Amino acid sequence: MFSLTTPITELASFIPRLGPKTAHKLAVEICTAVGYSHLSQATVEDLLFYLPFRYEDRSNLLRIRDVVDGLKASLEIVVQTAGNYPIRTKSGKTLSIFEIGGRDATGQVRAFWWNQPFLANTFAQGQRVILFGEWKYSNRYSCFQIENAEYEILSEADEEEGEGDETMTIHTGRRVPVYRKLGAFKTRPLRAFMYRLTSMLTDVGEEFLPAELLARYGLPSRLEAFRQVHFPETAAPFELYLRGRSPAHARLAMEEFFLLSVALFSRRSARDQAVKGTAIEVNDRIRQVIRGVLPFKPTNAQKRVIKEIVTDMMSPHAMHRLLQGDVGAGKTMVAVQAMIVAIENGYQVALMAPTEILVEQHTLTIRRMLGTTAYRIAALTGSLKPKEKQELRASIAAGEIDMVVGTQALVQESTVFARLGLVVIDEQHRFGVIQRTALAERGLQPDVLVMTATPIPRSLAMTAYGDLDVSILDELPPGRQPIRTVVRTESERQKIYDFIRQEARAGRQTYIVFPLVEESEKMDLKAATQAAENLQHFIFTDLKIGLLHGKMKPAEKEAVMAAFVAGECQVLVSTTVIEVGVDVPNATIMLIEHPERFGLAQLHQLRGRIGRGTAKSYCILMDSPKNSPEAKDRLKLFASTQDGFVIAEKDLEIRGPGEVFGTRQSGIPIFRVGNLVRDRDWLEIAREIAYKLLSERSRTRETARLMELAQARYPQAEVQLH
Ligand code: ADP
Ligand code: MG
Repeated sequence: MFSLTTPITELASFIPRLGPKTAHKLAVEICTAVGYSHLSQATVEDLLFYLPFRYEDRSNLLRIRDVVDGLKASLEIVVQTAGNYPIRTKSGKTLSIFEIGGRDATGQVRAFWWNQPFLANTFAQGQRVILFGEWKYSNRYSCFQIENAEYEILSEADEEEGEGDETMTIHTGRRVPVYRKLGAFKTRPLRAFMYRLTSMLTDVGEEFLPAELLARYGLPSRLEAFRQVHFPETAAPFELYLRGRSPAHARLAMEEFFLLSVALFSRRSARDQAVKGTAIEVNDRIRQVIRGVLPFKPTNAQKRVIKEIVTDMMSPHAMHRLLQGDVGAGKTMVAVQAMIVAIENGYQVALMAPTEILVEQHTLTIRRMLGTTAYRIAALTGSLKPKEKQELRASIAAGEIDMVVGTQALVQESTVFARLGLVVIDEQHRFGVIQRTALAERGLQPDVLVMTATPIPRSLAMTAYGDLDVSILDELPPGRQPIRTVVRTESERQKIYDFIRQEARAGRQTYIVFPLVEESEKMDLKAATQAAENLQHFIFTDLKIGLLHGKMKPAEKEAVMAAFVAGECQVLVSTTVIEVGVDVPNATIMLIEHPERFGLAQLHQLRGRIGRGTAKSYCILMDSPKNSPEAKDRLKLFASTQDGFVIAEKDLEIRGPGEVFGTRQSGIPIFRVGNLVRDRDWLEIAREIAYKLLSERSRTRETARLMELAQARYPQAEVQLH
């Protein structure tokens, strides 16, 4: 018999009425859908995870006699007439209508579709079809009719299909799955095939979910789950299936969440057992150094977090900690303190950021902060000449550099440290589990501190960062003003400019931000440059306008920034380079052009640049009539809150996990069933049970087996100790 690992290409010998040719075609389509490169990789399991994207409840197909006006229902009818005809509207336009007439044993109905003449190729006399939608009584035709119905053709000629009994039990009179077209395979043959596959399936591997979990949440066995997720049983509310929340869905999602949690926890505990190669202590001398360089009194949150970090650093096991904090909460200062501790203990530190601009900004800030120390700080950036890079790497390897700031790629690739003790990663949502570990697994097993630029949703923290301890900076430095955020339209532009001028006269400054994305970089640059010129020559002739963008030379950028900081220019037109690190407390207005092109988290970052001084600050989003209702909603939501955690959750909800973090490259595990937004509760449960199981002191053979399975399923979460 076949099992989950049987290649699809071999299925023809097991499944009746499935020829080798069709099996081959199926395998090809699954390979395309999943992204495999070899046919043999496509297995029965992959087929089973080709889940219906919706379901239809055909267990109660209505008869025409029982329809009442306004009822939403499915009717199965036989098509009697079908055809197109034009009609003329009152305004003189011509529209086409495709109409069918049909009947069952109890009466007649009519269905029509606007402007879809091609339906003539779909419907034909004598066909049996299901029509779903809202039925209205038509006085003119003296029967019920339906407009733009959803439909399914039941008796489509299909060489795959055995007719007769099977059709009766699979496609009607029950809850049926509806599949997205898989290559040339339409829903109906797929349904028939899945039916045979799931009813013949017996070997689904071992049961690895704890019995306690299954019992407590009423989850079906693996086999039952596969069957029910394709052919819903009637015990669970149909609506749960439609939302992907049936017990069958829960079981399959739980497997993913559970195994990932096991992988993450076992990785963590393996790490915790290893003793790191560095030894850190903190004494009065070091405390003195820190006090000497810190420009401010730390907030209570900063104090708490630095204590958590230093405690980790002093432990014999490597630190793996995530520092979460809202924009402007002061993460840099926390990182700098940790770095001082490491350097004072005689170790090197590396600070990595995702972009060159960020690297430059961090270098500036940190050089300023550590100006009085004798630390040797170097920036490893792309603008270095090959020879300079080589020399710098030699000094790092010789231990002559204390702190290296650079992009992750640059620091990792062929940089050897003499005694690397601490790695700080400023993430910005761009790195994932895999890359994060590359440096950490070298040499002394340094402490690792990951900082996210903006808060991240809890469900994501538990998966993508689930192997890390978490510190949260939940307090902003004193004196921050709430920012008033408004959505405005083009008609109000003049008023906005007047306001900017008025603030400028009062001695305050404005950012005007333009989006810049790689795909349309040239056009975006032009838009920003042109806007700066127009503003200077036609609008703010009495003010000085600065322009800042990523294509400028570092020296130019610095000059512009310095002028803005000094208050010599009142309006700074900029692409997103100001997103991070820029700190001008005197800037009180941020006007964002095309805000719909930014992600919510990015907007939040931007807005964090104002509201830093004592005067009231304003963030103005320039809405356009072209924006979709969804885009408008997003802007409205953004204007309504300044809480970064709320915004992060919303961002995930609106854009969905796939878009926010979903690529394989980002190292975040992809779930085939589970959904980080919809199934947050299941994730919590799975994680809790995995944790409980693995933290029980006696490791049984089952937990060992579980860890094996988990690492096979999520290999990127595996720890590599050497
Ligand atoms: P983020 O957490 O977004 O990286 P930063 O580290 O850039 O935040 O800090 C934001 C701003 O707050 C900076 O201007 C920094 O100098 C300032 N800051 C940080 N900590 C304090 C503090 N304890 N008191 C006053 N200002 C602070
Ligand atoms: Mg920062």
